Amino acid sequence: MDYYSSQISKLIEEFTALPGIGAKSAQRLAFHVINMPVERVEELANAMVTARKKVCYCKECCTLTDQELCPICSKPDRDHTTIMVVENTRDLAAYEKTGKYNGVYHVLHGAISPMLGITPADLRMKELMIRLQADVKEVIIATNSTLEGEATAMYLSKLIKPSGIKVTKLASGVPVGGDLEYIDEVTLLRALDGRIVM
Ligand code: ZN
Repeated sequence: MDYYSSQISKLIEEFTALPGIGAKSAQRLAFHVINMPVERVEELANAMVTARKKVCYCKECCTLTDQELCPICSKPDRDHTTIMVVENTRDLAAYEKTGKYNGVYHVLHGAISPMLGITPADLRMKELMIRLQADVKEVIIATNSTLEGEATAMYLSKLIKPSGIKVTKLASGVPVGGDLEYIDEVTLLRALDGRIVM
């Protein structure tokens, strides 16, 4: 039996489909929206539609941005010969927050996972290989220290090494199984400073 109006039920259903939102939270959010002034709801809805439409991939590093080139790639004073490879834009943000890394990034948008059927072709590796044809001195692999992240690091290292470019990997300061975005700045910097040649 449907306890709510079909519109509320539809809203709850939509919220439930979002990651990390259970049935209870979905209900709470739906009722919150119903009680908001209609102008605020319009603002919220518009912000979502605009973000979805405007956000695209940086043509250089593949991070999410709303320009052709992201703010990092478009800065001439960044060291464009050092590329740090990360799994996602959140990991990039974690390193950027430390303010100590002056190179540029490459965002893969995931990691190799046979379990989830994610193959190298599903990640932004082709784009990385194209970038390596320019003047690049070092590729720092900063994938997560999960099984998937490690497999991705191994794969990339094998792929890049024949080109003669130095390939390094973050030191083991990053806890195994830890997502980069949840690790504190000190640990991140230690991992970066102590990086090892693959
Ligand atoms: Zn970029």
